[in-house]
Amino acid sequence: MAKDQQLDETAAKAGTKPGAGMAAEALRATYGLGPHDALIVVDVQNDFCPGGALAVPDGDQVVAPLNRWIEAVLRGGGKVCYTHDWHPADHCSFRQNGGPWPPHCVQGTFGAAFHPALRVHGPVFRKGFLPDREAYSGFEGHLDGDPGKPALGSWLKNQGVERVFVGGLATDYCVQATVLDACKEGFTVLVLTDAVRAVNVQPTDGTAALAAMQAAGARLVP
Ligand SMILES: [Zn+2]
Repeated sequence: MAKDQQLDETAAKAGTKPGAGMAAEALRATYGLGPHDALIVVDVQNDFCPGGALAVPDGDQVVAPLNRWIEAVLRGGGKVCYTHDWHPADHCSFRQNGGPWPPHCVQGTFGAAFHPALRVHGPVFRKGFLPDREAYSGFEGHLDGDPGKPALGSWLKNQGVERVFVGGLATDYCVQATVLDACKEGFTVLVLTDAVRAVNVQPTDGTAALAAMQAAGARLVP
């Protein structure tokens, strides 16, 4: 027992819960993760995390669970891919251009970069790169933000992906839009509820978004 206690203390010092080393393996086994699975990590960018230009409350709290899922999906031989909000400096969603948001995720800036603790191991699909077009859904994103390269949906299908797991920021905007499009495109969709956070302009927006995703056929994973 003393040895277990010691292990727990070591885990606590490392900032992980006891048994966290097994967490990814447990996820892989529990969900039967395999090569036809993909994880879509939505917009885990500095501007959406605390201190950022458009911070989502507790936005950085998605990083640790997502890192476990990234490891789990990779262990299963599945694909991990990422989306980026990727705006030109004069984007239509910015307030000075009549949009609802402060300037955020401007191409090439620190705010548009991944949260530094996020494990990045896969291609990036960038959206919102045209000045006059808003894009919440990752499915509007193209590989590397190049409209000549594949969009997310066709890339997933080319990889043989049938089931997608979705987490990231923010529940009530880009995660919701990405999940609804994934359902429309015929994927089996699971939403990682411990790895999403909401803006909550209205306090119930996040809850309503999850309900809408469920109504569209997505399954909510605790
Ligand atoms: Zn944006």
